[in-house]
Amino acid sequence: MTDSTKSKSRTLLGRLREALAEEGEGQERLDRITQIIAESMECEVCSIYLFRDDETLELCATQGLNPESVHQTRMRLGEGLVGRVAKTSHVVNTADAPSSRGFRFMPETGEEVFPSFLGVPIQRLGERLGVLVVQSREARKFTDDEVYALEVVAMVVAEMTELGAFVGEGAALSARHQQPVLFRGGVGQEGAAQGHVYLHEARVVVTNPIADDPQAELARLRNAVDTLRVSVDDMLATAGNGAGAEHKEQMQVLETYRMFANSKGWMRRMEEDIARGLSAEAAVEKEQSTARTRMGQVTDAYLRERLHDLDDLSNRLLRILTGQGNNTGVEIPDDPILVARNIGPAELLEYGRKLRGIVLEEGSVGSHAAIVARALAIPLVINANNVTTEALNGDHIMVDGDQGIVHLRPDDNVVEAFKDKIAMLAKEQERYASIRGKPAETLDGKVITLAMNAGLMADLPSLESSGADGVGLFRTELQFLIRNKMPKRAELAALYSRVIKAAKGQRVVFRTLDIGSDKVLPYMKAQEEPNPALGWRAIRVGLDKPGVMRMQLQALIRAANGRPLTVMFPFVAQFEEYCAAHSHLDRVLEREAALGHPIPEKLEVGAMLETPSLAFAPRKFFEEVDFISIGGNDLKQFFFAADRENERVRQRYDTLNVSFLSLIERIVERCNETGTPVSFCGEDAGRPIEALCFAAMGLRTLSMRPASIGPVKSLLRRANLDQVKAVIDEARARGDQSVRPAIMGWLRGR
Ligand code: PEP
Ligand code: MG
Repeated sequence: MTDSTKSKSRTLLGRLREALAEEGEGQERLDRITQIIAESMECEVCSIYLFRDDETLELCATQGLNPESVHQTRMRLGEGLVGRVAKTSHVVNTADAPSSRGFRFMPETGEEVFPSFLGVPIQRLGERLGVLVVQSREARKFTDDEVYALEVVAMVVAEMTELGAFVGEGAALSARHQQPVLFRGGVGQEGAAQGHVYLHEARVVVTNPIADDPQAELARLRNAVDTLRVSVDDMLATAGNGAGAEHKEQMQVLETYRMFANSKGWMRRMEEDIARGLSAEAAVEKEQSTARTRMGQVTDAYLRERLHDLDDLSNRLLRILTGQGNNTGVEIPDDPILVARNIGPAELLEYGRKLRGIVLEEGSVGSHAAIVARALAIPLVINANNVTTEALNGDHIMVDGDQGIVHLRPDDNVVEAFKDKIAMLAKEQERYASIRGKPAETLDGKVITLAMNAGLMADLPSLESSGADGVGLFRTELQFLIRNKMPKRAELAALYSRVIKAAKGQRVVFRTLDIGSDKVLPYMKAQEEPNPALGWRAIRVGLDKPGVMRMQLQALIRAANGRPLTVMFPFVAQFEEYCAAHSHLDRVLEREAALGHPIPEKLEVGAMLETPSLAFAPRKFFEEVDFISIGGNDLKQFFFAADRENERVRQRYDTLNVSFLSLIERIVERCNETGTPVSFCGEDAGRPIEALCFAAMGLRTLSMRPASIGPVKSLLRRANLDQVKAVIDEARARGDQSVRPAIMGWLRGR
């Protein structure tokens, strides 16, 4: 790039700034901008197309095309050369526009006389805003320098669009971040909430995209990058002495940060942007925008992660440049809905119950954030694409966790409909609260014990609010999953002790560590297995590496401190595994006694029945165990050979399939023969119709999410189990595949 092109570019930006500083309506400014660009670039035509909605571009200002076509000419995304630029976010530069792929002739603009076409995307941080075009009568391809210059101008236009510089009466241009937007994501945690956006990482606002003094801007950028390098080196030094897979990953990210922070290419591009007249902040953002656009196009997971790292690093740099630091001074609203790209479990726990809802751009159902959101019973929508780009702090937002839908800045109709939904949910909650202290007793006098599933301290307040009969499943692995390193015995003992105390004498069934398959501890070496769900998991890990299991058993005994204790081993597939685990427990008990620790006054030891094989174990097994809990999530996946994590096959087999219900019935019969207490603690126990059928199959204890206790109890209290059983038997006799239609029909007909 020559000095003369640099200075030409700077002059252009300088003129743009003056035009933007002048009083005037948005439309006047846009018109003036196109005029300045056309003149400076010595082109007959300059036009700005902006998005009207997600799919439509509108000609919003032009110099050189028919002025009548402004706000009249529209094209769909991908249509014509302009639509192509918008769709692909790639520059189109041609000396022969009419013969170019996708060219669309628009007679109203009179553009057929301009063979040269250069279109660049107007985008900000990966958000497409429009297209900036110059055209000329002389048939020529634009030079790289000219392309670059136009990209820099497009960046300024993007920033100004963002700042609302083009909003105005006659212009009919909508301001950014003022329109309602609907996001369709995935369900992370059910429930509905409305409130105001609180961005986990506030966006940095660049108020002046054009440099007054390029030398000063260069110095600012270099200083900021130096500060950034030092902070990355510090982070690396601090993180340097950890261990485990999580640590390795963290180091990898930091190394990537360091690589980018020292990258000559990155630095050079930003310096060039400044030389052309951008401010340091705008230069950083321009590079960040390019990375974000690439992020949307790259499918390789590793590369995407690295682009994310670059994005994070750019944010850090912007914070240094703007002096905003991490604390942007934004106060958390009274009814905060947290909006983030992603969030770690510890950070989420820190916000705690004050959040009304959570919306994440990434995340997955099994992610740690989702586990915590569930424990806190906060509605969570995951995979809400681009939400962090669209949402501003303080925006009104509604989260429908049942459908995975988010309404940002909703219009009045949506607000009304949503309020109705929230009111209806509140009414239901009132109804459930009114039966909270009452038993789940059916019309024919059978009492079902409804316990709750838990795993974090954050779950325990629900014990009281839901009216649960104790904790039927405490998933101890969640504590392990949300940490960066293996918890110590004393820490675990303190935590379990708090759990026992919070349960106020109610039974808590502690399930020993259930890891493997989808639950991978970040600090343990992951196993490469062809079929992890059928692999080295749960009790199999515990028996092969008994150190952790024994440490956990010790922690549980110490936490009980003489009080009753209930322990359950997960994923027992054969009798012998239960015996082996039990003998570890016996040895730990002996050792604890020898060390003078109090032994639980009552110790119950159970097994989870999660594989069909255990249903057919010898009678002796049923005699030996103190209780059995059916882990329906796993049992169902193995019974039907349908992966519980795979949406495609998961829904294919109904829990109320007669074969599965008959298996449950058989398990209950076998337990009854030996007087072994049996419960069901998979997710299906929390679905009212399923719970009703399980009760009809003879189950008398169900354990579920706290929020399900009300709805399940409500239905059980209105049903006669003998009648339900009769409906199921008839369906089976008829050869129905699932008893669901029959049960639904019966419920409706009552
Ligand atoms: C189950 O498999 O049903 C169960 C309760 O265990 P998890 O969902 O934790 O595997
Ligand atoms: Mg399981």
